[in-house]
Amino acid sequence: MKLTTLMLILLAQASAAQTHSEIQACVQTTPNVSVDLPRAKYLSAGLLASAGVALQWIPCGQRGHRPDLIVIEPRNGVPEFIHPGALAYAMAFTGTQIVVMPDRVKKTYPEYSALVLAYVLAHELAHVLSRTESHSASGIMKANWNLRDLNEMVRGTLGFTADDIQLIQSGLASGNRSLNSDTASKAIAQPLPGGRGSARTSEPRP
Ligand SMILES: [Zn+2]
Repeated sequence: MKLTTLMLILLAQASAAQTHSEIQACVQTTPNVSVDLPRAKYLSAGLLASAGVALQWIPCGQRGHRPDLIVIEPRNGVPEFIHPGALAYAMAFTGTQIVVMPDRVKKTYPEYSALVLAYVLAHELAHVLSRTESHSASGIMKANWNLRDLNEMVRGTLGFTADDIQLIQSGLASGNRSLNSDTASKAIAQPLPGGRGSARTSEPRP
């Protein structure tokens, strides 16, 4: 799938969404990130737009940012025993910070690292915005993605469900975005079955 085709699909989904709430996010500068971050950010904004969220990426530290700025921290070298199998997690104590692990993404999906990272960002941002750790049976908010989901990512057809969008919009409407420790998203997006670095051979359970 070419990038332009994917963006056309995402734009079509975006136009179908009714409301557009604005949010801001930034990615902290981290050396040795081998994933194409600009592309991942661009694609994730398209995914959020399909849920009625206008995601604006700004530089971290920019003056005048929104008080609920969501900060993304790329973190390489996280020991495997911490959030084993996960590609990202949301920080429980702030509710506005997300840690992504680009080296795990790159290792598990060397050919699709930017694409998968875009979906990881969209998934985690949805947790923060909806203030829930709930997952769906299909789509971006599945607890674990499988090979079929990856194929849908490549085709640009893996999206949010109607329930996901409702949760996101409800969370945005309620204002305060702080998560408590009971509702924080900890781990998502296990490696696909058969992916490098994955010992799983069947679809992981949520
Ligand atoms: Zn999740």
